[in-house]
Amino acid sequence: MTVSLEQVPNPAYICPDDMACSNLDRAAQVLHLDPSIVAVLRVPKRVVTVSIPVRMDNGQIRVFAGHRVQHSNVLGPYKGGLRYRDDVTLREVSALAMLMTWKCALLGIPYGGAKGGVAVDPRSLSLGELERLTRRFTSELVRDIGPQLDIPAPDVGTSAREMAWIMDTYSTSVGHAVPGVVTGKPLSIGGSRGRDMATGMGALITTREALATANRQLAGTTIAIQGFGKVGRAAAELFARQGARVVAVSDGSGGIYDPDGLNIEHLADFVRDGSKVAHFPGAKLIPNAGLLTLACDVLVPAAVENQITDKNARLIQAKWVVEAANAPTTLEADRILEERGIIVLPDILANAGGVVVSYLEWVQGLSYLFWDEEKVNHELEKLMVSAYARVLQQANHLHIPLRLAAYTLAVGRVVEAFSVRGLYP
Ligand code: GLU
Repeated sequence: MTVSLEQVPNPAYICPDDMACSNLDRAAQVLHLDPSIVAVLRVPKRVVTVSIPVRMDNGQIRVFAGHRVQHSNVLGPYKGGLRYRDDVTLREVSALAMLMTWKCALLGIPYGGAKGGVAVDPRSLSLGELERLTRRFTSELVRDIGPQLDIPAPDVGTSAREMAWIMDTYSTSVGHAVPGVVTGKPLSIGGSRGRDMATGMGALITTREALATANRQLAGTTIAIQGFGKVGRAAAELFARQGARVVAVSDGSGGIYDPDGLNIEHLADFVRDGSKVAHFPGAKLIPNAGLLTLACDVLVPAAVENQITDKNARLIQAKWVVEAANAPTTLEADRILEERGIIVLPDILANAGGVVVSYLEWVQGLSYLFWDEEKVNHELEKLMVSAYARVLQQANHLHIPLRLAAYTLAVGRVVEAFSVRGLYP
């Protein structure tokens, strides 16, 4: 099937000129794709931007900008998180929406890709303000989301609490309970066991598999983790339980380091009430940037985008980089790491555990049958291990890095479905 380029809106209008598009282009080259199909995939299918007026506690009204970018629904409903962060932009959300399309396609789960965000620092709002913001944003999106249409989930700055507000607002608006409209919900309203640890668990599984490929094992491996939020903390706890030595972690307050391995269990307890990593008693402090270039076997960026750049990529000492965050490595840095023979487990594989268990949550909800944690983790393990094996095989077969291998598999799957479905009209 061929589509004329003229039918596609100017790709520059919201297509991020970064990782997502460049990797799509590289994959398209390897797969010899028709450029007109690539042009369709470069741009999101739908973009919704709304203003969200919120009455603040002091009686004044503040207006926030909210976005939901729906990149593709070729393989199923749009799927992806909703982030609250003060520097959220439409461009960033567009890139992340595209990543979700590839992530879901790579894992073989029946979803397209989306991402949403509100430009707000959630820590600057009271609980009541946050709830009003979330409910108003949901009500603005009520015709754009739904269990068969677009299913939000937690992301940076959001959690099960916000998902419960979204579920309740959506359900109130349609007149009956619709748990399937979001994933990452609290257990009491249809959430899945294992969802809170899922992204960390996925990162653990991919790391374990990658180490095994090099005849190494987790026990004794040294690991540095940037970010100690939902993802970084879960990953750290899981790595430590497997006998890996987590030598450094950081959050916004800075990093801490112990070459003999930090006591992650104590640290996790310590930060639970909102304390900062840098205040952990007895810790040797290191700057956040220094964590990335520490001597260790595995570096796990688990915070936000663009952390490994052309400025620090040459200084990285880890042999493996496990992208638990989305897009933590810039394009230039990715090239440098490739040149230096550092193995990068790409985000669309390494952090896919979250959306995989979102999928398992959605399946459990739709079938009104809930599983124990063992069953959830077993299904997650199966999907992650087989995705890693496919990516490795593709990389070896085509002599390309893991990221490009993952993109070729994901993009290939979406393009095939697109071609089979055809273009309407
Ligand atoms: N926000 C997570 C991600 O970037 C999870 C998305 C989801 O569960 O839909 O993959």
